[in-house]
Amino acid sequence: MQTLIQSVLALQNGHLQSLDVLLDGQYIHTVAPAGTLSASPDCQTIQAISGQDKLLLPGFVNGHTHSSQVWQRGLIPQLPLELWLANVFESTPRQLEQFYWGAVSTAVDTLLSGGTCLLDHAYLIPGQELETIDALVRGYKAVGIRAVIAPLIQDLPFASGFPAGCLLSQAASPRSAAQLLALMETIIAEFHDPDQSIYIGLGPTGFHRCSDQLLQGCADLSQQYQLCYHMHLLETRAQQRLAQERYGISAVQHLHNLGCLGSRTSLAHGVWINNQDIDLLATCSTTLVHNPVSNLRLGSGLAPILQCVQAGLNVSFGCDGAASNDAQNLLEAIKLGTILHTVTDSDYEHWLTPEQAIVMATIGGAKGVNLSDRTGAITAGMEADLVLYNLNHPSLLPRTNPLQLLVLGRPTEVVEAVWIRGRQIVDQGRVLTVDTHTLHRALRQHPANSEAAQTHHHLVEAHYRQVMLRS
Ligand SMILES: [Zn+2]
Repeated sequence: MQTLIQSVLALQNGHLQSLDVLLDGQYIHTVAPAGTLSASPDCQTIQAISGQDKLLLPGFVNGHTHSSQVWQRGLIPQLPLELWLANVFESTPRQLEQFYWGAVSTAVDTLLSGGTCLLDHAYLIPGQELETIDALVRGYKAVGIRAVIAPLIQDLPFASGFPAGCLLSQAASPRSAAQLLALMETIIAEFHDPDQSIYIGLGPTGFHRCSDQLLQGCADLSQQYQLCYHMHLLETRAQQRLAQERYGISAVQHLHNLGCLGSRTSLAHGVWINNQDIDLLATCSTTLVHNPVSNLRLGSGLAPILQCVQAGLNVSFGCDGAASNDAQNLLEAIKLGTILHTVTDSDYEHWLTPEQAIVMATIGGAKGVNLSDRTGAITAGMEADLVLYNLNHPSLLPRTNPLQLLVLGRPTEVVEAVWIRGRQIVDQGRVLTVDTHTLHRALRQHPANSEAAQTHHHLVEAHYRQVMLRS
């Protein structure tokens, strides 16, 4: 089956151009100047699509989210990460069905805000780890999105994630590093399935709640199976202080010493990395995933994104989970991540342009999930992960610079069509693969535990106030 998108605006080499784009099966077959392509006559099935008044971009990658947090949207009060997290753990869903619908909901929101791929740093139901992954895989396959599932694992107790955490009571971690690594081997063997667009990644929570043994073991598995290695990094000032307390050197240097940094590694946040960290990460070809909405919601700070870009560090965008974003809109994350950093540098020549932001969200995103050989560009031979935007939608009018308006404006309902590996998943703004009414009914039928919106962790809160606010 071939699809020919004719005379469509697309971003090529930093400029908008009018192109013909021919898809053949799961691949982009040919990209040529507008008006020069027609479907090959021997092809029995051809779909021709007019690109008039349309913009075609590679699909964005949501480089960091936690799909089950869909159920905690609008639930957790405004608190700093360390206190917010106590609430999140308490109200995490416990039913497999909720994980299935969380995946479906996250995938649908991703598609309808320009994404074709996401990285789910996935919570697991204790004792039902394989069943949880199975529910997520079923959800992503039902939608047809490209999904990297990196199960969240940790082997240190909750309190260890705080500076001076030894002053808090420590509940033992239920699983050792060796047990968690064995679990990951099982998950990889059972669920890693690139032919179905499902990829397993290694996802230790972050240095703050993981032993060196676990961090290193994950790096070994990433190397052995050539899988994405993903974790949180220096999201908050408390984590920066913890790294100094525990290692006496920066967390980035420590991860480098353990062999955890490489081109398959992507790190979420990096709000508190310093200039030496940035240079080291760039040298290691590692990716930083910028989550501006979540960083503001939790008061974590502004990641030094302009310095990262200037140092040649690959940066992509993420929404982070819906408990710290309250939505899953990639266009919103990209807009905020583009304009936020003007306040940090008065030299306007350093500011991010909309074209740069699109490259970060597409090619940068694909690299961050270890899939840049397959997706992220409109180039012959790449797999066809494409999004077609309707430039006649009122939120994209008047026709000034469509790309600038898409990034800096407030586009709503502008995604007209989406293809993933050549398969059309969205048409005329409607998801073809799942019934969104059923999804919405499921979301209505599982009210979240609103009691969890209270801060129950008074001990943790007192400790946090003592350590972070009074010293
Ligand atoms: Zn996160």
